[in-house]
Amino acid sequence: MSSVSLFLHNRFSQKKEIFTPLNPKEVTMYVCGPTVYGPIHMGNARSIIVFDVLFRLLRYLFPRVVYVRNITDVDDKINVQAKNLGISITELTHTTIAEFHQDIQALHVLPVSVEPRATHHIPHMIAIIETLLEQGVAYWAEDHVLFDVSKDPHYGTLSGANIEEILAGSRVELAPYKRNPQDFVLWKPAVEEQEFWPSPWGNGRPGWHTECCAMSKEYLGSRFDIHGGGSDLLFPHHENESAQTRSAFNIEQSVKYWIHNGMLMVEGQKMSKSLGNVLLLKDVLKQVSGSVVRWACLSSHYRHPLDWGSALLHQATQCVESVLRVLALPWDGTPHMDEDFLAYLCDDLNTPGALTALHAAAKRALQDPQWVPIVHTCAGLIGIEATFSFMTMELRNKIESIITERNRARAEKDFQRADTLRHEVEALGIVLEDTPQGTYWHQRI
Ligand SMILES: [Zn+2]
Repeated sequence: MSSVSLFLHNRFSQKKEIFTPLNPKEVTMYVCGPTVYGPIHMGNARSIIVFDVLFRLLRYLFPRVVYVRNITDVDDKINVQAKNLGISITELTHTTIAEFHQDIQALHVLPVSVEPRATHHIPHMIAIIETLLEQGVAYWAEDHVLFDVSKDPHYGTLSGANIEEILAGSRVELAPYKRNPQDFVLWKPAVEEQEFWPSPWGNGRPGWHTECCAMSKEYLGSRFDIHGGGSDLLFPHHENESAQTRSAFNIEQSVKYWIHNGMLMVEGQKMSKSLGNVLLLKDVLKQVSGSVVRWACLSSHYRHPLDWGSALLHQATQCVESVLRVLALPWDGTPHMDEDFLAYLCDDLNTPGALTALHAAAKRALQDPQWVPIVHTCAGLIGIEATFSFMTMELRNKIESIITERNRARAEKDFQRADTLRHEVEALGIVLEDTPQGTYWHQRI
């Protein structure tokens, strides 16, 4: 536990506020997770990395952190994709969840405290909808249950959404069973061939916004500290979540701090299916390591847009290389935090500042061993590490034995043989570093 204060920009107040958890002994955080119909894209990856760094920082500052990131495994997109692939919904979600875990593991994302699946909490969602009907803020029409936004005087306060503007835009689904066009679905009837559950309103399935209300309530209670997600979720998802919890739990605000990360652009353009520039994380990971992806994602402030491109990756690769060079140096494991680095992170997660401090520390550490523990500690806090996940013990032993043989050749001044052995080890994707303390190696990134 640290005495440093953390400041976070709260979307609700639109101000940077000092972070004081509801319970000083346990911080509670909920982040909207993926809808599992296919592999995640770089926009999802950025959000996951940002909240992973916040989770790591909170763990550093507070005695306990409960972090819930859900999995949306019931959705129209899932139904469509399963049909397209000719497989069952269960098969599709099972495979996608396994791939998701594999992808984010490559980014060194820490496991969350709880990873609930929407389909495991249908009775909780039904209970919330029943309460909303009892309160008179929801209505049942043509097998749908809808939330009546005109009954909530605070609707729009989180996102700043203007009801007139919403109506002018095409962001609401117009349907004959809606009293007001901006009313949103809490329960929808079953359609042929799709997954459904029985309910007092017939067979059907819950709306997306109700899922997150039910899962956050189940694991964190009706009031919790942080709710996070991408800024694209602010409206309507988070606004509608907020409206439901206000009425269902009879409280003004269930969330103390709303945190949203900015969008990821690709070479200056919005990433979208229509532009055909959607970058999948798994494809990016074929080119660069998880640490490079992480560094690139953290090199812009989380609330700003991040422009993804080759220049960014090139710069991130060089920075990560210099840090990994230091991480290959011996360290006794005693942590030593750099105060500037921590101060940047505590100032609304100023990761560009923190990365600059870490990069400077890495340069110093190559000259002065006193900085080595600092680099290890700071890199560990934000999840920058060497990637050995694809390396077997057998390969490690082979590398070690070639290096030993090369050192022997050098000691015997057989430089030709030493060079041949260096090329041999480099062909295995290994970078060698000869220092006065000995030879160190790491995987090329
Ligand atoms: Zn959500």
